[in-house]
Amino acid sequence: MSAYTIDGYEVVIGLEVHAQVNCNSKLFSGTSAAFGAEPNTQVNPIDLGMPGVLPVLNEAAVDAAIKTGLALNAEVNTLSVFARKNYFYPDLPKGYQISQFELPIIGKGEMQVDLSDGATKTIGITRLHLEEDAGKSVHDIGDDNSSHVDLNRAGVPLMEIVSEPDMRSPEEAGAYVTKLRSILRFIDVCDGNMEQGSMRCDANVSVRKIGATEFGTRCEIKNLNSIRNVMRAIEFEAKRQIDVIEDGGVIDQETRLYNADKNITRTMRSKEDAHDYRYFPDPDLLPVRLTGERITNIRENMPELPDDMKQRFMDQYSLSAYDASVLTQSKTSALYYERVVAEKRDPKLSANWVTVELFGALNNLGKDLEHSPVTPQDLGELIDLIQDGTISGKIAKQVFATMLETSQSPHDIVEEQGLKQISDTGAIEQVIDDIIAQNEDNVAKYRDGNERVFGFFVGQVMKATKGQANPQVVNELLKQKLAG
Ligand code: ADP
Ligand code: MG
Repeated sequence: MSAYTIDGYEVVIGLEVHAQVNCNSKLFSGTSAAFGAEPNTQVNPIDLGMPGVLPVLNEAAVDAAIKTGLALNAEVNTLSVFARKNYFYPDLPKGYQISQFELPIIGKGEMQVDLSDGATKTIGITRLHLEEDAGKSVHDIGDDNSSHVDLNRAGVPLMEIVSEPDMRSPEEAGAYVTKLRSILRFIDVCDGNMEQGSMRCDANVSVRKIGATEFGTRCEIKNLNSIRNVMRAIEFEAKRQIDVIEDGGVIDQETRLYNADKNITRTMRSKEDAHDYRYFPDPDLLPVRLTGERITNIRENMPELPDDMKQRFMDQYSLSAYDASVLTQSKTSALYYERVVAEKRDPKLSANWVTVELFGALNNLGKDLEHSPVTPQDLGELIDLIQDGTISGKIAKQVFATMLETSQSPHDIVEEQGLKQISDTGAIEQVIDDIIAQNEDNVAKYRDGNERVFGFFVGQVMKATKGQANPQVVNELLKQKLAG
């Protein structure tokens, strides 16, 4: 694929993804971590950091981090340390966030991302650490447009996954978030719901002249809440930085916010350095020591990962890398496909029907696969009707359109609408004879060696049979008859 550049500049991107861990309780207390409860009903003194409380580590969150580390081919550190990151914010009553700094639970790893042309690229993972989420400020509420703080989210376990600055285009960044989300969902550690904020992304962006060896100064765009916004924000930010540099300016390292309505980024604050946070090991928490047995146990119970499933789809069903990666983007789509392809249906034909026809239709309807009006059983039945010659591929699209509308079975639709393919040679022969009789000039042309007229005859037969004649039979009979 040709490199993505803007006016002689290359874009460099590193992403920080915050993923809320699917856990019943908070990282250091037994309070529920469920989403959507009445404000401030899920907080206890530990989450608020009241004097005298002691945090206790949630072991399920530690397991989730190990699982994710293994899925990202990363080092699992058998010793990690929780640290306090000090800052003041209205939704952080403790005045510090418990995070990991020098010794994170997961070290270097890597992930393969799938690009639109079927190519893959390896993106380095710098680290993954566990930390608590902060509360939430909610603004402009009620008659007085006041601001409120909801602390239900304070202390909810988060994994922060930091990438190397390995991405070079908005597309690669989008592919990275897509793949990471799919892995987190496959291993069931995060629901990946970006709209609800259970997965959030900060994008670090810099630009440099093509051929430069040093990175430019980066800006960090906070809290992007959809993959589309990640890509749009990066594109805008790269262009902004290039304009500044071309005008003779310099880029200040800063934190910026993205406004999706206006598609712009603006300054939020100048970037703090680590020393501004006065990180220090949390004196209330022991270092986390992991046994080899615990890690092995998790490794042995890992579910099939998207890359392995993609490879299996390529081997088992002889699918292209592209088809295999589209189908394995989620467990739901992989499972749907495997139900369609079951009973020895043609894998490539099945893949086309799922990825092109079905996904295309669902996209137009604004529905997701979970709410598909067409079940995998019915789609499989439709493919049977094509494969056994009952209907042509073209008629199948017509039947499929009715299936989408009515959820009827393809058999019933074909019966009701009389769409069965005509394979009866006698009937087709009759039609061909009529057409040949009416088009003597074209018959002569064909016999003179103008092969292109053949298409004209096929078209006429299909028209006369409302598209229901078996194309193969039509082709054979036409060839015979036209030969004279
Ligand atoms: P901070 O705590 O300042 O956010 P982190 O180490 O957590 O720092 O994250 C830094 C992120 O910025 C990483 O994802 C890294 O890949 C990325 N990054 C570092 N330098 C650059 C650069 N010059 N251009 C773009 N991204 C960068
Ligand atoms: Mg960071």
